[in-house]
Amino acid sequence: MKTKQKPERFIDEEGKRVDGRRPDEIRPIHIESGVLNRADGSCYIELGDNKIMTAVYGPREVHPRHLAEPDRAIVRYKYNMASFSVSERKRPGPGRRDREISKVSKEALESAIFLEKYPNSVIDVFVEIIESAAGTRATSLTAASVACADAGIPMRDLIASCASGKVDDTIVLDVNEVEDNYGQADLPIAIMPKTEEITLLQMDGNLTRNEFEKAIKLAKKGCHQLYEKQKQALKNKYGGN
Ligand code: ADP
Repeated sequence: MKTKQKPERFIDEEGKRVDGRRPDEIRPIHIESGVLNRADGSCYIELGDNKIMTAVYGPREVHPRHLAEPDRAIVRYKYNMASFSVSERKRPGPGRRDREISKVSKEALESAIFLEKYPNSVIDVFVEIIESAAGTRATSLTAASVACADAGIPMRDLIASCASGKVDDTIVLDVNEVEDNYGQADLPIAIMPKTEEITLLQMDGNLTRNEFEKAIKLAKKGCHQLYEKQKQALKNKYGGN
């Protein structure tokens, strides 16, 4: 979507959204793992117009040392938007939003990693948003978990993350930028797909209880679609079908 204006309607008479998707459709997904040579693990992801690179270093020794935990690894998660990634230049450096996203994403990812296997060490996760088109926190997390797997870090499962939302009183999967900016609600979740355990849940806007349940169900459906692509990206690098 190039227009940043609020559309008159979000859903047309054929039931299609401003970018031509049906309410229950996710944007096109492209995932590649192991794309950086220097990092221990990496993943590049596109979801619609979102373009995101993630790199994982570690487990490795913690600096500064006082941050080390004697019984487990710590995770540092750094979400960064390139200044050219949004329509108006983003001021470089972490703002409140970047810090919040880094915090909730770190916690979401930690749930999947067997941290106790690596006492006194750190897993550093770097996220660079190259082009941003709504849903970046969820999409980054999806990529970051593939990068962790690519680094050989033992995990309970991958983390798949996707948002649903509400526009024109309709629950839709994977809100785009216009829907995010002018819609009625945005609900990003992250799950471990094997058990559907939720490791991140945030919400902007208002939903009734019924709408909330429908939105969670739809976001989970998106997560399972991402999960298939995540596994395929790892298989493409390491072989197997
Ligand atoms: P998410 O990217 O996880 O959906 P938000 O809901 O906070 O996070 O943001 C929605 C979208 O708004 C972003 O993906 C991005 O396209 C746009 N956006 C966020 N921050 C900025 C900014 N500082 N300048 C311009 N656009 C922004």
